[in-house]
Amino acid sequence: MLEQFIYFCKMNFSSKLLEDAVNEFSKLPGVGQKTALRLVLHLLGREKEEVTHFGNSIIRLRQEIKHCTVCHNISDLDVCEICRSNKREKEVICVVEDTRDVMAIENTSQYFGAYHVLGGLISPMDGIGPSDLFIDSLVQRVATTEVKEIILALSATMEGDTTIFYLYKKLKDFQVPITTIARGIAFGGELEYADEITLGRSIVTRVPYETAMK
Ligand SMILES: [Zn+2]
Repeated sequence: MLEQFIYFCKMNFSSKLLEDAVNEFSKLPGVGQKTALRLVLHLLGREKEEVTHFGNSIIRLRQEIKHCTVCHNISDLDVCEICRSNKREKEVICVVEDTRDVMAIENTSQYFGAYHVLGGLISPMDGIGPSDLFIDSLVQRVATTEVKEIILALSATMEGDTTIFYLYKKLKDFQVPITTIARGIAFGGELEYADEITLGRSIVTRVPYETAMK
């Protein structure tokens, strides 16, 4: 009953500190004021050290995190673990939209190559053009290192298709096989929701881009 009351009313806080914390939490995606208040009150009930640890992990995350200088994946070091590993097949590059896709593909345990994180998809509607993404560095990578295959694992949306077509035009002259993963499943931001078996299978059974377009 009280929760419903809070939901319909503008909250009147008894403390500015409480209000500030609730406002910050409610800026997170999918978190309304009611949920924010619940989370903040929960934190207030925890041990001080625990909450300090919680706060510090967020501060350190924002201040210390890096993006791999090779593949642009989120990393603690200048070059990420995948790019540094000598167990990975560096000549195979899987191009994805963001870090969530890398995590989803890694969870399948079916892929042993390297990645290239674009940082988004081409979307004229949202004002995102090729120069806003890590496309030049991909072309540079293909031009300067030995690459045996480029896998385009982007979402089956208009933005995904536009980006794939753009990348294909940019990369086709390098004479490197370009493949795509099965278009039936959701990738991109959605890739993280695809089940591991389906995603793993689609990585293994990837097809040449030209074939996929027929
Ligand atoms: Zn990397």
